[in-house]
Amino acid sequence: MTMRLFMATLSTETNTFCSMPTAMSGFEEFYLRHGTATQEAPNLMTEALHVWRAGALAEGWQVTESLAAIAEPAGLTTAPTFDALREEILSDLEAVGGADIVLLQLHGAMVAEGTEDCEGNILAAVRARCPDAVIGVALDLHCHLTAQMCEAADLVITFKEYPHDDATPRAEELFDMARRMVLGEIDPVMRVFDCRMLGLYMTKEGEMARIVREMHELESRPGILSVSLSHGFAWADVADLGARFLVIADGDADLAYTTAETFGRCFYDRRRVLTVEYPTLGEALDMAQDEEAPQPVVLADMGDNSGAGAPGDATFMLREILSRKLPGVALGLIWDPIVVRICCDAGEGATLSLRVGGKTSAFSGDPIDIEARVMRIASGLGQHLGPGLEPLGCMVWLRIGTDTDLLVNDLRTQVYHPEAFEQMGIRLAEKRVVAVKSTFHFYAPFRAIAVRVIQVATPGGASPDFHNFEFRRGGAELWPFVENPVGLGVLEIHASSNSIEV
Ligand SMILES: [Zn+2]
Repeated sequence: MTMRLFMATLSTETNTFCSMPTAMSGFEEFYLRHGTATQEAPNLMTEALHVWRAGALAEGWQVTESLAAIAEPAGLTTAPTFDALREEILSDLEAVGGADIVLLQLHGAMVAEGTEDCEGNILAAVRARCPDAVIGVALDLHCHLTAQMCEAADLVITFKEYPHDDATPRAEELFDMARRMVLGEIDPVMRVFDCRMLGLYMTKEGEMARIVREMHELESRPGILSVSLSHGFAWADVADLGARFLVIADGDADLAYTTAETFGRCFYDRRRVLTVEYPTLGEALDMAQDEEAPQPVVLADMGDNSGAGAPGDATFMLREILSRKLPGVALGLIWDPIVVRICCDAGEGATLSLRVGGKTSAFSGDPIDIEARVMRIASGLGQHLGPGLEPLGCMVWLRIGTDTDLLVNDLRTQVYHPEAFEQMGIRLAEKRVVAVKSTFHFYAPFRAIAVRVIQVATPGGASPDFHNFEFRRGGAELWPFVENPVGLGVLEIHASSNSIEV
């Protein structure tokens, strides 16, 4: 009998503290395809669809490709938008009479009006339509891993790396487990340990790199199929906030749980070592101004990373740079469609009085009035995030004085790569300070051009100082807000295929 694979992707990461809703326009302007994503080059969240299609074709399976929808993170997804996206996946599934295997690449931190666990909701609806199918889901590690997800799906895995450069191996891993499960070769059972910690964990160096290596080692142990650590997504006031350890074992629930608990407690015990103190804006600029510092110094405006749902038009760092009269600065990307419109109308070469940034909310700070020359305007450019090319919208290079360069655009996106500046003609090697709105995805490509990279705890909608946000739900009971969180331990999963006796 020919196996039928159904697959889709849906991704946005909801910052519940952000006042801007995520509507269909957010998907339309970023990425929205209706069953055709694998006909074009992959991006971070569609890589899995390419992997799964190739794998299925090699097995001789039928493939149904449904929605691929990605929006830049913002506030709550509107109810009609979530309903429309969810219904498209479900109606595509019904139209082909169900499937033997359903594989989904979802974010895991999407929150809609009235639906706190969007991914769990979709997985439960898929399970209701395909009670006997093998259902697997790959999530971003910045997810809220819920019991509902683990009850509905047979296989849940997350990225292991931040930056997320392991989407392809994770998609391959999920495909292979689903294949072996549908053939009856394995009997996966999932268990989750709730570490009750809130944090921001980069995986490329230090203690976190060691933890990722340990996870890979665990996966080579007998009976262990997969190990995931969901870091959580900090800027969300939801019940299931925080880091959780997920282990999939072959037919052995006790092994899955004891492995998750042992490793989860080990992770919890290292919480102080894993917590990074980022310098304040003032401290970071003092470091950048140090005559001895090798140039350029790259500063990351973490608080205004639109990739974590911040507005992208915050002015805190720009204001401080201008008030200190720092020479040789390049700063981007400031999301300001009004300024882009004015500059497009005025044209390259124009000198204008402009009111830049600070328009979206209190997280953006105040707008700044500048006199600037329009150096270049360009549309249709992209910047690399891994192998994929991410859109930049319409970009305007503005010059203040003789050597302060701003990059303003009309599409909310963080800076991933120096080419965002270089393609416009801004030569970063000649700069003293390069300031980018991002948290960590920028890191490796900018590390290649700068000896010194400083991640800065700027104010804003994605500030790494979590005390700036009021957590009323799950977050309020996590470390570091409470010293010894109650409930460290098991996340109860009650699905029949994943039953747990507590
Ligand atoms: Zn992420």
